[in-house]
Amino acid sequence: MEKVQCLIIGSGPAGYTAAIYTARANVKNLLFEGLQPGGQLTTTTTIENFPGFPAGIDGYDLMAKMREQAVNVGADVRSGFVQSVDLSKRPFVATLDGGETIEADTVIVATGASAKYLGLDDEKKYAGQGVSACATCDGFFYRKKVVAVVGGGDTACEEAHYLSNLASKVYMIVRKDYLRASAAMQQRVKEKENIEILFNTNTLGLFGENGVEGAHLVKFKGTDKEEKFDIDIDGFFLAIGHQPNTAFLNGQLELDEQGYIVTNKVTTTTSVEGVFAAGDVADPRYRQAVAAAGTGCRAALDVEKFLASL
Ligand code: NDP
Repeated sequence: MEKVQCLIIGSGPAGYTAAIYTARANVKNLLFEGLQPGGQLTTTTTIENFPGFPAGIDGYDLMAKMREQAVNVGADVRSGFVQSVDLSKRPFVATLDGGETIEADTVIVATGASAKYLGLDDEKKYAGQGVSACATCDGFFYRKKVVAVVGGGDTACEEAHYLSNLASKVYMIVRKDYLRASAAMQQRVKEKENIEILFNTNTLGLFGENGVEGAHLVKFKGTDKEEKFDIDIDGFFLAIGHQPNTAFLNGQLELDEQGYIVTNKVTTTTSVEGVFAAGDVADPRYRQAVAAAGTGCRAALDVEKFLASL
């Protein structure tokens, strides 16, 4: 069976940064890219908040560059999907979707999180053409335009507030008759004159010739007060939560109540010695590319230290 010192699972900014650092430290590494090589950033357009690119950079290009940099410094980057891992003893064993197995002294889990979508066909139809799940990434393109944010939690309020400083008008589409967000966040949203909250409202679909031009909504769905109506919008932002990609771990690492991997506050160590977590899979809070890259670096340094201690 093939054996490596460090198996990196995931190919977002965290995974590639961990690959760069471990390769440069002469740690025999192996990175599997997973089902979406490059991760979430490959689904956004221009990224203007990753330092070092004064003119911004296309998300796909940024990830291609990170991959190239990792390969150039000697990382072993392969396509492949890790189906399951056995973390019960070292060396750990990972099984790929094709059945192949790999032994590893250490594992860095960098499998990210996926934004939840409503499940409407129109979300796919207008992906990258007005539908987004990241206001910080894409909000800039909606200056002086009208947008809608779906959700009533802290993320939705934060995104709506962020967008209200750019867009001329922000609708919040909230399915219940209240916001789930903390009182402080609710207050911030309610204080903004250009945010209109549509309570008891669900989205039926989107419309538009060239990208999103509006949404079909329904109020009091399924009751005798049910009322269908449309709003004109240029952007449709999902903020109904994220799902960390931890299913393949099959309960072997400690997760928090939302399913994110619990790491030591200072390091990237997890509940299993020799297993480290980096990027969004262990970050319910910041979810930024540059933050993920930072934890990828930390995980690699933690791996080096751990290997030295063996
Ligand atoms: P939450 O799970 O807290 O909220 C999700 C929101 O989306 C809810 O309003 C929920 O509605 C709604 N929703 C879920 N599914 C659907 C659906 N299918 N259709 C319509 N609406 C839907 O997720 P968040 O991402 O907002 O927050 C996650 C965690 O992170 C929370 O603990 C939050 O407090 C925390 N957080 C904290 C921040 C801060 O402190 N600054 C910032 C961001 C997040 P319903 O209420 O009806 O279930």
